[in-house]
Amino acid sequence: MYNLREMQRSTYEVTATRKRPQDFDRLVGQDFVVSTLENAIKENRIAHAYLFSGPRGVGKTSSARLLAKSLNCQRGMSAHPCGVCDSCREIAKGSSVDVIEIDGASNTSVNDIRAIKEEIMFPPQTSRYKIYIIDEVHMLSTSAFNALLKTIEEPPEYIIFIFATTELQKVPLTIRSRCQQFKFKLISQPLIMECLRSASEDIGIKADEDALFWIAKESTGSMRDAYTLFDQVAAFSEDHITLEKIREKLAIAGFSAIAEVASAAIQGKQDEAIDRISSLFSQGVSAEEIVRDSADFFRTLLLYKEGIRKPEILGTALSDIPESIAEMLTKEQLEAALKAFLNLYRDLRYSLSPRFEIELLFSRLGSLQYLSTPDVLMKKLEALKEGVAEGSIVIKKKLTKVIEDASAAAAIPSQMQIPAAVPEEPQPRREEEKVPEPAEAQKKTASISDLKEISSMLANSKKSVLAKQLMDIEGIEESEDGALILSLSKALSFNNLKLQAKDIEKAFSSYLGHAVPIRFRLTEEKKEEDDIPENMKKLRAIFGGIISKAATVSASAVQEEPNDEEDNYDQSVQSGYFENEDDE
Ligand SMILES: [Zn+2]
Repeated sequence: MYNLREMQRSTYEVTATRKRPQDFDRLVGQDFVVSTLENAIKENRIAHAYLFSGPRGVGKTSSARLLAKSLNCQRGMSAHPCGVCDSCREIAKGSSVDVIEIDGASNTSVNDIRAIKEEIMFPPQTSRYKIYIIDEVHMLSTSAFNALLKTIEEPPEYIIFIFATTELQKVPLTIRSRCQQFKFKLISQPLIMECLRSASEDIGIKADEDALFWIAKESTGSMRDAYTLFDQVAAFSEDHITLEKIREKLAIAGFSAIAEVASAAIQGKQDEAIDRISSLFSQGVSAEEIVRDSADFFRTLLLYKEGIRKPEILGTALSDIPESIAEMLTKEQLEAALKAFLNLYRDLRYSLSPRFEIELLFSRLGSLQYLSTPDVLMKKLEALKEGVAEGSIVIKKKLTKVIEDASAAAAIPSQMQIPAAVPEEPQPRREEEKVPEPAEAQKKTASISDLKEISSMLANSKKSVLAKQLMDIEGIEESEDGALILSLSKALSFNNLKLQAKDIEKAFSSYLGHAVPIRFRLTEEKKEEDDIPENMKKLRAIFGGIISKAATVSASAVQEEPNDEEDNYDQSVQSGYFENEDDE
């Protein structure tokens, strides 16, 4: 009578029962549990209470029965019970008088435990041990646990408890600490597929890999669920299990059907997408199913985008993934789509028409590729600004025309108009600084010839990298206010030195014997103001900064496709640079 639930189960879980392991070697996916139990049996280290925890359908009850068999086998205690003696056979059938299975879910009261307490006073009738297997032990009431606690603290020699639970955290610590604990893991998708393959071979039925993959995925790590679903599928598949039959009979959308709908929608073919959704509905696929599978689809693409290639994590075979769609969308866009479907799933039950909601969401997917977050927009703007200044992004004539028109238009408020003086202003100042006259006449000032000594001073004080970078300085001038202006044409060194301005200032000051402020200037090899075309000057007025010679060269080679900024971002900072005037 304790085994009613098990009996009910066995009437429909044919494969699960048939494939129930009769030997520890056959228990799949729980290698650690198996080896530990096997060793304990071999070395005769038997505990009086075991606690098996883990998700449902991963082999806890099977292991409990295996352990019972191993302990009670009439041919001697063994990790490999004979399976043919009376005890082994009775345990397999669930009819052993000395192995008592109790469902914690329906025997929760303290009275049930009291009954056990009375029972355990009697030694086993035919076996070595009297074994109590209590399933779902976390369902026991607190008082039942307390009663149980006293029993497991000092049980008679011949009593062994094996508790199983899916919710370890609900088992009181006092119980847990008195048990030898084993944690069972979810079974991996490849392992489940292997078992399903063997199950289909056993019954002489052909099964396609993608169909088994789907069953394994649906069972989310539970072997029992996988076998149950397998039986259901095998029942309507005649002699060949295919994904097509599963889709049809179980009215599921599946990854590839959703991939088709979503791909059409993302590419702006809304009519096709809606049409496909309509045919899914007419096949009997539920709204929940469509939304769930759509969320699945975008999750898969997102993981694929993150570089994940394992089918069991992606949830689908690599070949099913529409790469063009994955490439078309950014991570942010995929995240947004996934979020939208997760939200829709949540809202579905309050919806006036789930179908309308789904159609609406798929219609919106058309604009997904234009979706952006403020962060991304800011980055794009920055890159655009830098690219234009560097010359790696070239503005087509048409755009300059627009700018000219815009600045000419009286409609623009005065504060937004481009001040005519701005592009010209920095230039004359720079011309002055350019004068290659070293300020030799001044007392106690440094010139380019002093660099070597300052550099070796730095090298001596263990700043050899800085010392080396210092040698990239090409000119030293004194400004009117007594500061030294160090000029370089290498942008990289310029930036590095600027970061270490304090150290350089110290070095120069100690060399000269008085404090001297330092500034840096990034120079160009050659400079001819007239080379800068009018359009670039206008751009400079908008974006600020100085347009370098290199930039002006590439600016004259006007390209055809100004819209394609993405490509241009990727072009490295080949020639031009964006001059930094922070120091001025
Ligand atoms: Zn046996």
